[in-house]
Amino acid sequence: MSGRTQVRACSQVGPVRTCVGCRQRTAKDGLLRIAVVGDECVADLRGTLPGRGAYLHPDIACYDQAVRRRAFSRAYRTQGPLATERLRQWVGQAEHTARKEAAPAASPVNPVHEKEIRERHG
Ligand SMILES: [Zn+2]
Repeated sequence: MSGRTQVRACSQVGPVRTCVGCRQRTAKDGLLRIAVVGDECVADLRGTLPGRGAYLHPDIACYDQAVRRRAFSRAYRTQGPLATERLRQWVGQAEHTARKEAAPAASPVNPVHEKEIRERHG
């Protein structure tokens, strides 16, 4: 049985979700959770809203794609149209914030993460 390979998802770190806009799989941390309140899509910034969640990159391009394909209605299994105007603003803000945070990416090691590893070993 030498030709047998073990396929394990050990390369994935943390939960992965699919963006409803571009359909790319991305680490959940890099996506915005979208929930529905009434008939409106809202950004679940704290991850505390109940119900189904859809995930979207904090990117207006992904938002536009999702709206065009009615991906939100499909994700939440709603019949009528969902209001997404405020969501657009949230995505725009998140996009802005993400760019700002991504700028000083000079340090490759996350100090918090490193500390966690040390504590786990010690
Ligand atoms: Zn996307």
